[in-house]
Formats: sequence, C-alpha cells, structure tokens
Amino acid sequence: MEQQEENSSRLVLVLYPFQGHINPMLQLATILHGKGYSITIVHPEFNSPNPSNQPQFTFISIPDKLLESKVSLLPEDFMSLVLALNKNCAAPFKKCLKQMLDEKHPHECIAGIIYDALMYFAQTVADDLGFPGISMRPTAAAMLLFAVIPHPDHESVFENQIPELQPLQLKKMVTSMSQNPTDAMSEVRAAALNATKRSSAMIENTMEFLEHAALSKIKEYSPAPVFTIGPFHKLAPSISSSLLKEDAHCISWLDKQTPKSVIYVSFGSMASLSEQNIVEIAWGLANSEQPFLWVIRPGLIPGSEGTELLPKGFQEKVGERGCIVKWTPQKEVLAHVAVGGFWTHCGWNSTLESVSEGVPMLCRPYFGDQVLNMRYICYVWKIGLELENELERGKIEGAIKKLMLDAEGEEIRNKAMELKEKTEDCLKEEGSSCRSLNELTKLV
Ligand code: UDP
Repeated sequence: MEQQEENSSRLVLVLYPFQGHINPMLQLATILHGKGYSITIVHPEFNSPNPSNQPQFTFISIPDKLLESKVSLLPEDFMSLVLALNKNCAAPFKKCLKQMLDEKHPHECIAGIIYDALMYFAQTVADDLGFPGISMRPTAAAMLLFAVIPHPDHESVFENQIPELQPLQLKKMVTSMSQNPTDAMSEVRAAALNATKRSSAMIENTMEFLEHAALSKIKEYSPAPVFTIGPFHKLAPSISSSLLKEDAHCISWLDKQTPKSVIYVSFGSMASLSEQNIVEIAWGLANSEQPFLWVIRPGLIPGSEGTELLPKGFQEKVGERGCIVKWTPQKEVLAHVAVGGFWTHCGWNSTLESVSEGVPMLCRPYFGDQVLNMRYICYVWKIGLELENELERGKIEGAIKKLMLDAEGEEIRNKAMELKEKTEDCLKEEGSSCRSLNELTKLV
C-alpha cells in the first residue's frame, strides 16, 4: 500500500472476455499491483469478471453491443466475435479513458495501456491519446512467430532456421492457416499484426527455458521489446477469476487418494465433445482402474448437462474411484499430491499450470493454438503423450496406464518433474521471469 502511494502510476488493462484470457490478465494485474501500480480493468459487458474477487482493482465495464450485433459465441465463429468486439468497444474505451483523465488525481498518471492482443483496438486508442500500448498474449510465444516474421519469409524461416522447433510443424500450420481464410480471419490477422507493430512492448506468459528457440527468433524480428514473465499464476497465486463456480468437494475427494494415482480430465472452457465421446471416455476411465477427477462443465456436450449421458453401469463400476464435477479450482487440483496425470485439451493456461506442477499430460487438442501446444508438450519438451484419431475406450485405457504406471512412461514422468524444477528456478529472484518482470516495470 505504501509503495502504491509513492508510485502513483496507473495501468489500464483491457480484457478479452473468455476464461482462458481473463485468468492470465487478472493474474498479470495482480503481479503489477504488487509492484506498486494502481490498476483499472476495462472489460466488455459480456462475461464480466466479478469485481468483488479483486477489490484492490477498479473495474470499468464498457458497452459491447454483442446482443445487437447478433454475434455467435460458438468457437468456430470466434473471428467474427473478435471483429465485433474491436469494432464496438473502441469508441466507449476512448470515452472511458478521457473520463479517467478528466477525473484523475492530480498526482496520478496513466503509465500505459496493457491489452489482450485480441483487443487490438486498444492500441489504436492508446496511439490516439498518446499512451504507450503494450500487448499481452496468453498463448505460447511461438504463436507470435507468425505475427512478427514477415509473411514471405515464413517458409524459409520455419523450414530451415529453427531446428529445435521442427517438431512444431510450423510450416504445416502456416499452410493450413492460409488455406481458405475467411474474410473475418484475414481482417483480424491484419489488424492484430498492425497493432503489434505499433506496440511499445509485448508481454508473454511463458518462460525463457521453455521457448528459448522461439523467443530468440522473435526478438530478432520484433521492433518492440518482449518480456517473458510466466507462468503468471505462480507469481500471482492467490486470485480466483473463474466464471463458473468452483467445486471445493473435489479437493476433499483428492485428499483421500494415494499420491500420484489420480488422472485429472478437463477440456477447458471452450472445447466441446459428442455424446459418443463421453461414452468412450467414461469406459476408458472406468477400465483404466485409476482414480479419476473429470470436469464435465455445462456446454461440454452442446445442448446437454453431460452427466445424464454417462453409460448404464458406469457409476456402479467406478463407485468412489471417480469424481465428476462441473468446474474445479484447477491450479489447486494440479498442485495436489494425489494428481499423477492430466488429460488435457492443451489450452495454454492448462499447459503452463501442468508444467509448473510437474504433471505429465495426455494430449487431445481441439482447435487453434492447442495443436501447437500439444506438439510442444509431446515432441519438444517430451512430457506428454498424444491421443490421436478416434476416441476409443481401449486406446484411452492404454494411454492412461502408459502415462501414469508403465515403465514406458517413466521418462515422460521424470522429464515433467525436471520442468517443474526449472519453473521454480525461473521464479527465483535471479530467475529469468523475475528479471524480465523487473525490466518491464523499469520500462513502464
Ligand atoms: N479451469 C478451471 N477449472 C476447470 C477447468 C479449467 O479453473 O474445471 C481454468 C484453468 O485453470 C485455466 C482456464 O480455466 O486457467 C482454461 O484456460 P486454457 O487456456 O487452458 O483453455 P481454454 O479454456 O482457453 O480453452
């Protein structure tokens, strides 16, 4: 608090309103608040975070007109949603900043605007009003390679110049991204790229040791400095920013399980599964004989609660060995001594949360950057197994056993523990993330 009064700088953070983006942005806000900055969080009305969870911040909601724009919220229409938010929120955001300038305390200054890279309108507003704009990306830094390296160089750079990243198949990703892009996709890409070029800095939720090769290449091309201060959740451990209610009962269930015996199964906040998938997963888990904690969130199976689709005889077979909940306090779950494996959709937050607790992963990506994250996990860091092709109960059972029990999976389990130790090193005072955070605060 004392520090805050001395340093009367305010940072304005602009949220992209989905769980996988809200978490890292609020964690970053907590980290910067700890460094003495006052924090204002500007967010669209849709999926508003609960301000009472973070009373130390000022929250400002701006109209997003999403209802009027009749935008679909399905993952496949995500580019149209990004476009609508950028179009609808720019003017209200500018108005809100002007109002803040009119009302501000005489000794306070707005030191900068930090925005989720998908809310690129914030860079334009920052430029108009003369504030530094800083983008934050809640994805692997490798995703930034597509943005900072000029398009004509993609092929040669991705094919020859970064041998460590060959397993990511970046060239294949570029080819598939450039096949039949929709108008919305091309517009978002061009606008986000343009904003990145004008930003004063970029903040990445990653660690130097995890993405060294990608980061060196990015720094070679990027006009703005890049700060790697991840994993944010370890530097801001105490905050809760879940949009769904977390089920605390799963922690007392975990307390009763033996160390490293539980496979935790969660596909994040956006991915969806078919009815058939649920049946195969249920039998795969049941037949693996391992205890499991499975998140079936509302909407995981479109149009259903999910649990009513569990097959007959499943509950009788698993009894107390299985715990099914709608939403967990995931960071706490992954840090629990009973958890020995994580079947994940490979969202970047889930990936970092698992890496930092040394939990090996069973990987089943669905869309977007999840495929790249899976390739990092399984083929670059070698701390997971890919679950490919059709979801089928026998394959699921085999993969769980291999990951958690069999001698074949031992190397993966050991490697995962090594990365946990390296993560701890990064977070020490002289570690790369702490040093990068100090450099960022100097710049701001
Ligand atoms: N999460 C959670 N409880 C759950 C499932 C997920 O708290 O039951 C959190 C998880 O810790 C992570 C975020 O939701 O921080 C999901 O982000 P991620 O990038 O992994 O995936 P997305 O939801 O964006 O696909």
